[in-house]
Amino acid sequence: MDLIVAHDRAELAKAREAITAKGRDLLTPRGRDHLTARDREGLTEEHVDGTVALVPTMGALHEGHRSLIRQARERADHVVVSVFVNPLQFGPNEDFSRYPRTFDADLEVCRAEGVQLVFAPAADEMYGPDRQVSVSAGQMGRIVEGAFRPGHFDGVLTIVLKLLHLVQPDVAVFGQKDAQQLALIRRMAADLDLPIEIVGGPTVREADGLALSSRNRYLSPEDRQNALALSRALFAGAEERAPSAVVRAARAVLDQVPIEVDYLALVDPATFTEVKDGYAGEAVLAVAARVGTTRLIDNVVLTLV
Ligand code: AMP
Repeated sequence: MDLIVAHDRAELAKAREAITAKGRDLLTPRGRDHLTARDREGLTEEHVDGTVALVPTMGALHEGHRSLIRQARERADHVVVSVFVNPLQFGPNEDFSRYPRTFDADLEVCRAEGVQLVFAPAADEMYGPDRQVSVSAGQMGRIVEGAFRPGHFDGVLTIVLKLLHLVQPDVAVFGQKDAQQLALIRRMAADLDLPIEIVGGPTVREADGLALSSRNRYLSPEDRQNALALSRALFAGAEERAPSAVVRAARAVLDQVPIEVDYLALVDPATFTEVKDGYAGEAVLAVAARVGTTRLIDNVVLTLV
C-alpha cells in the first residue's frame, strides 16, 4: 500500500479507516459527508483489523525519528506518523518560525520506513479561533525544562492528547531524548485514563555522542564542537555513584566550553524532582544549554545504588 498523506480531519478519518479496514477497498474516493458518517461507524470492531501505533513528530525527520518508527512497527500492525510544528508549545521568543520544515524529505523517510499514514495538518486545522480548553501539565510542567519554557509542556500535552484522540492509536511512541516530555505523557495517560500504551525509545546519537536533533542543523562547525560537551558531561556524570558526584563530574565538563547552561539536573525519571545523596534507583541526568543561538537538550538514564 502506498503512503497516505492526510492534511485534515476528514482525510485522516478516511485514511485511518483505510489502513485498518479488513477486506474492503476503502481507498476509493468518497464524498466528505459519507466519510464523516463512516468515521463514527468505522470505530466499531468489525471495521478494524490490526493495531495502530502513532509516532508524533514536528518533522525534519532524522535517525532518531526513524528508530521510533521502527519500534512502532514492532508493536503494531500499522504506523501513523504525525508531522506538525505545534505553535502552542513555542514561547514568544522561541524558534517557531525558523523551525526546520522539510516535508518532502519527511515523506521519503516515512515511505522508506513502511509508514502507512502521515497526518500533517495545518495549524488552523488543529486550533480553531474560539478554542478555550487545554491540558495543564501541573507542577511537573513548571520544573526543570518547564522552568525555562513557561507553558511549553501544556502545549505539548494539549497537542499530544488531540493527536491521540484523532488517530486513536493503541500505542504511541516517544523518545527518551525528551525525557521530561515522555514522563509527562506517561503522567497524562495515567491521570486522564488514556487507553493507550506509551512507549519510550532510546536516544539515538551521532558516533561522537551528540544526540540527534532537528535543531542540530543550526549549529556552526564551532557550535557543533562545543555541543559535544553536553553528551560528554552526561557520560562523565554517569561514571559516578553518588548524586552529588554525578552532578559535579558533569558540571566540570560543561564548565570547560563557552556554552550557556540553563540547567544540569539529576532527577527522578517519573516525577522530575531532584534526587539527592542517599537516593537509590533510576535517575535521569538532564541538561539544557544554549550553544551559539541554538538551544539543545540531552539526558542519560542511570542507575544509582
Ligand atoms: P520532535 O520532532 O523533535 O518533536 O521529536 C519527535 C519525537 O522524536 C519525540 O518523541 C522525540 O523525543 C523523539 N526524538 C527526537 N530526537 C530523538 C533522538 N535523537 N533519539 C530518539 N528519539 C528522538
